[in-house]
Amino acid sequence: MSGNGAARGDGVSSAGERIGFDELVAAIESKLTAAGASPATARVLASNCAACERDGTLSHGVFRVAGYLDSLERGWANGSAEATVDVVSSSFVRIDGDNGFAQPALAAAGAEIDQALADTGVAVIALANTHHFSALWPELESFARDGRVAMAMIASGKLAVVPEGATRPVFSTNPFAFATPVAGGDPVVFDFSTSSMSHGDLQLLRAEGREVPIGTGVDSTGADTTDPETILDGGGIRPFGGHKGAMLSFMIETLAAGLTGGAFTFEIDAEAPEGVHTFRTGQLYIVIDPERGGNEAYLARVRGFIDMLRDAGMDRLPGDRRYANRAEAAEAGIPVTDTIRALLD
Ligand code: NDP
Repeated sequence: MSGNGAARGDGVSSAGERIGFDELVAAIESKLTAAGASPATARVLASNCAACERDGTLSHGVFRVAGYLDSLERGWANGSAEATVDVVSSSFVRIDGDNGFAQPALAAAGAEIDQALADTGVAVIALANTHHFSALWPELESFARDGRVAMAMIASGKLAVVPEGATRPVFSTNPFAFATPVAGGDPVVFDFSTSSMSHGDLQLLRAEGREVPIGTGVDSTGADTTDPETILDGGGIRPFGGHKGAMLSFMIETLAAGLTGGAFTFEIDAEAPEGVHTFRTGQLYIVIDPERGGNEAYLARVRGFIDMLRDAGMDRLPGDRRYANRAEAAEAGIPVTDTIRALLD
């Protein structure tokens, strides 16, 4: 199982109970506000989290609320952060997230990002001094729905990944994501970590007492193991694709931390005492207006490309599963899992 690929039925209330999207947003929002988040932060985070749950991205859905509340209550993340937005050149926007969550900080720079795209057709967005706990696709899908091509990457904060040859974790799971609009259809958006499995998925599997395939991770001596607990507790996750995943992680750290001014994962003390600050991670977003790139036929060409892929037999593209879950949720509501039940109770 993968968290994003988790069957819709996992942990779902046997009564077949469902909840509406807005109701779920409101329930999460009120928990976040009670834990000290400002209304603006609570609204952005709750919408992101409920969207992940609705689309079946369960590893970053309601499962994450406990982590958000803990970060707020301990003062680890600043729930009322005021991001500072600095337009350093006509296409380069720097955001200091004031030790808050990344999504509200990005939202705070909406006008500057739109201006950079209008002026130059490109926005490079360097976001530092924030905490990112979630999936990247919600932010990227929204750029693509506005007709933009977008990519994002994170130095995500927890030292967890041991490449071949290393004797200790040196990278985080370093997710990266791409999104493109498509003529006459939903955007194609994909979003994954450079590790063999995301941290969230391993935690879900550990909770379910399940094993992982050999090659997923190692124990504290560097030996292969199939036990998520051993990987999470003193061991490490392998990068996907051997040296290829490892060097993608290297470059993601270099751009998302080195270029933005955020912390490299190796600089972060995850055991720092309570109430100090978040991981102060960095994220880099690059957003391009394809029409300003001089190719007005872009959207139609991507449509043709995708039609060819489907014709060649690629009957599942990234986003298909999420969009299908979303359509079902719009029709019948979001399935109430045990985690949602606990939140509502
Ligand atoms: P997955 O291996 O679950 O892959 C997810 C992506 O691949 C999705 O875009 C998914 O589309 C697509 N996909 C999955 N299976 C297929 C398939 N068979 N054919 C075509 N496309 C497929 O991702 P990870 O487990 O590596 O990462 C999960 C999430 O965790 C990501 O959202 C990532 O951003 C997040 N993460 C966040 C971190 C943070 O610090 N904030 C750290 C690490 C990970 P679809 O959605 O439609 O299924």
